[in-house]
Amino acid sequence: MLRTVEVRTVLAVPGSPFHNLHWRANLDLNLDCFVCERTGRTTRFELGAERAVCSGTGETGKHHTAARIAAFDHTDARDRTTLRAVVDYWWAPFHDAKRDQPAHALTRAPWVRHYLGYYCPEQDEPGEFSTQTNLVRPQSAACQHCSAPIAESHETPQLRLLP
Ligand SMILES: [Zn+2]
Ligand SMILES: [Zn+2]
Repeated sequence: MLRTVEVRTVLAVPGSPFHNLHWRANLDLNLDCFVCERTGRTTRFELGAERAVCSGTGETGKHHTAARIAAFDHTDARDRTTLRAVVDYWWAPFHDAKRDQPAHALTRAPWVRHYLGYYCPEQDEPGEFSTQTNLVRPQSAACQHCSAPIAESHETPQLRLLP
């Protein structure tokens, strides 16, 4: 059956100097994969792609799966940026024989990783960092060129299955 999960992630953005912080149009999501029949697989998504890539198992290796980013937008306020992504994926019940546990439509431990880019005005150089569910918070990201603060994560990303 087709399932839809909504991801909402907020980052605090210090005012200056301006580093043109932006969300990259890709993300990683933890899913229970009916293709390789394993729970908790890291699945890579790219906006615009009609399929995603499951990390698979030692035996299968990576494989394509029926999943895509359906919506991806961000709202920027003066001191924060909020990303909302909606991901569609095909899910079917199965039993993970290796972990001996049943699959869930939204995996047992939902997890997301986001990728962000920025541009340093001091050094005229681009940079990047990522933020994800499993972190010690608050997480701070600083510019790798001039050390200015770029972003802070205070809240765990919210993931919920849409009805
Ligand atoms: Zn898989
Ligand atoms: Zn900088």
